[in-house]
Amino acid sequence: MRLQFPSGVAGAGSRTRRPDPGPVAQPRGFLEKKMAIPRLRHAVRTLFEVPAALQRLSRACSTFHAFTDVLRLPKRQMTKLVFPLRELERQLTPDSRLDLHVKIFDPSLEDISKAEAVFTATSRNRISYLSSAVRLDHAPDLPSPEVCFIGRSNVGKSSLIKALFSLAPEVEVRVSKKPGHTKKMNFFKVGKYFTLVDMPGYGYRAPEDFVDMVETYLKERRNLMRTFLLVDSVVGIQKTDSIAIEMCEEFALPYVMVLTKIDKSSKGHLLKQVLQIQKFVDRETQGCFPQLFPVSSVTYSGIHLLRCFIANITGNLKTDGL
Ligand code: GDP
Repeated sequence: MRLQFPSGVAGAGSRTRRPDPGPVAQPRGFLEKKMAIPRLRHAVRTLFEVPAALQRLSRACSTFHAFTDVLRLPKRQMTKLVFPLRELERQLTPDSRLDLHVKIFDPSLEDISKAEAVFTATSRNRISYLSSAVRLDHAPDLPSPEVCFIGRSNVGKSSLIKALFSLAPEVEVRVSKKPGHTKKMNFFKVGKYFTLVDMPGYGYRAPEDFVDMVETYLKERRNLMRTFLLVDSVVGIQKTDSIAIEMCEEFALPYVMVLTKIDKSSKGHLLKQVLQIQKFVDRETQGCFPQLFPVSSVTYSGIHLLRCFIANITGNLKTDGL
């Protein structure tokens, strides 16, 4: 038997637990049963191309890779770029502002600036693709803390990892989306600081190997500090996302929800989605960090804050924010 749902989830927080489904034996992999959704293939193919306008916008925003450039922006623009959640909060009435947990992780600009050093490639801080693995026992055995990124195909995972590594332009974020291509876990070494793992996208060709790989990794990787679960802010939590969320909960993983592509929606739509997801996190999860991380890999909104959070939870930045 591969996976037994525990009746209680370890690492319980102070929030109310949802009703316990009771012990359920899963004869096959958790993902294997639930995530083979062929319809996503079409979506992946049609959305794969970046429209020309998006590329132009991306070039225009490329100066915001480095925090020194961000600090030169007018205050309002800078806040919007660095703290997108705060910008959304401004649209709420004072009473409902508490609905968004904007300041649970609330580093200073100085801390964010310090965290950039962790992500900046230099001769003393080598940031590089390390290796790929299809099985946990093929994964590099590194003592440094690890963070992993999971999300359904097309959620914007490769784009986000590229954005996080934009201060290390030599890093090649490998994308294998061709049907039939073996999906792998890709390991990136960030100097002596931590390892970042790009997990294969789910919901699109999830062969047995893939299931073995993801489940085993999440359950058994000892130095895994945090799992970053990506949700597309345009469409909100989809069925495949809920399955991944359930999996994180059942494995009692500490995880963080990152909302991608926030540049794509109107403010109103984005706020609606963010509030809905926040409500879900507050009511239905235990292992999920209560503060959401909205990001755009095109405008770089939220990227600097996310870098700072990663530097912090991997023990590479001491702030008062957590
Ligand atoms: P993955 O399958 O999760 O690795 O997704 P990709 O990073 O390849 O992104 C899927 C599609 O969404 C691509 O067409 C990207 O250009 C687009 N995309 C990714 N991130 C963003 C974003 O932040 N904003 C916008 N507008 N498009 C994005």
